[in-house]
Amino acid sequence: MSIKDNLNQVLQKIPSHVKLVAVSKTKPATDIMEVYNTGVRDFGENKVQELLSKYETLPADIRWHLIGHLQTNKVKYIAPFVSCIHSVDSLKLLKEINKEALKSNRTINCLLQIHIAKEETKFGYSLEEVEETLQSDDFKNLKNISIGGVMGMATYTSDTNQVRREFEELKSIFNKLKEKYFKSSSEFKDISMGMSDDFEIAIECGSTIVRVGSSIFGERNYLN
Ligand SMILES: *Cc1c(COP(=O)(O)O)cnc(C)c1O
Repeated sequence: MSIKDNLNQVLQKIPSHVKLVAVSKTKPATDIMEVYNTGVRDFGENKVQELLSKYETLPADIRWHLIGHLQTNKVKYIAPFVSCIHSVDSLKLLKEINKEALKSNRTINCLLQIHIAKEETKFGYSLEEVEETLQSDDFKNLKNISIGGVMGMATYTSDTNQVRREFEELKSIFNKLKEKYFKSSSEFKDISMGMSDDFEIAIECGSTIVRVGSSIFGERNYLN
């Protein structure tokens, strides 16, 4: 099947209140343009260098989402243009994003990445840690970031009950944070959860943004 056919199959399963971020990591510009030409404008990358080079060569109206782990020393490269950073997992990183956003005279939309998977390797805040960030005075002084919601990745497993439980946990953490810290904020509204293998479950659990790569672009070939 062509990329366009893949995309249409995916879009059929996404209700209109859920946004698709097409995850184009490792994929060439020609593939991205196939998706772009159908009207999709939100694309996700997990590496700063790759995001930067694609930003420089592809149409300017693409909204670029950084979905992978971000080191503080690389924030400066993407701050001038990035649309949303899904992978914020420390106060230190938030402060750096704020600093670079200010330099670019922008407000950068950030999602708080929450660790919901059972795997050790996945990044993200625990509920305790994220509350520590949200309660700190340092955080309250950050004026050039906007906290748009939360993001999480479920365990890589065929046990769909476990995946569902993890997504439900993220939804409940979202509700808790909304109630406690963002009650009057219209910006805090998104739950970024769901990938190729689990986005339908994620949507059932309240996802508002799905990040789908291989179901659209095909399997990735990693050379490194
Ligand atoms: C690669 C990636 C995705 C997309 O994964 P697929 O299984 O290809 O859909 C989603 N989110 C993050 C954070 C990723 O790194």
